[in-house]
Amino acid sequence: MAGVPRERFVPPEHQRRAYADSALPIGAGQTISQPWIVAAICQALELGGDELLLEVGTGSGYSTAVLARLAGTVLSVERLPGLASAAERALGELGVENVELTVADGSRGLPERAPFDAVAVHAAAPAPPRALIDQLAEEGRLVVPVTAGRTDVLTLYRRRGDRALTHEIGPCRFVPLVGEEGFDA
Ligand code: SAH
Repeated sequence: MAGVPRERFVPPEHQRRAYADSALPIGAGQTISQPWIVAAICQALELGGDELLLEVGTGSGYSTAVLARLAGTVLSVERLPGLASAAERALGELGVENVELTVADGSRGLPERAPFDAVAVHAAAPAPPRALIDQLAEEGRLVVPVTAGRTDVLTLYRRRGDRALTHEIGPCRFVPLVGEEGFDA
């Protein structure tokens, strides 16, 4: 994380806070993820360096840049085209090459590219997202915030045969996942 210049993903008016451990507005009502939560997601995914990883919620592209250093290939999906193109520009300027960005509803996953060794979701789902669990490879890991009453719970699912082993990492706060397996827009 020390190798990713977070200021390149933060809008000019928030530059002074680029290295604060907090989420910051990036436009369109969305936020750049708080560094510790990006770290917690990466840690839970147990990346070894050669994974095919699906990211849902590119946002600014900051978490994409961190994940790209830890996995083999990152397929990142964002539903808002304006954010996706700004992220593409920032990642291009930094020379990040092992990333493919797609504008789509990532709550459905990317069935045509599955199975995935790892899936990182940066927006809170109303329930365990079935499509994403189904697109995991054997022993694949999915980390997703799942809404539980007034907070969200960062949750790890590990695919083992027909089962998904579940581990609650801890409470967190995310913008909503909007889409077919998410909340209504
Ligand atoms: N990880 C990003 C921040 C993400 S904020 C960063 O570090 O900057 C969550 C993002 O998820 C927002 O950009 C939002 O538009 C996006 N999002 C919400 N629902 C989505 C969906 N169904 N598919 C893809 N992206 C979605």
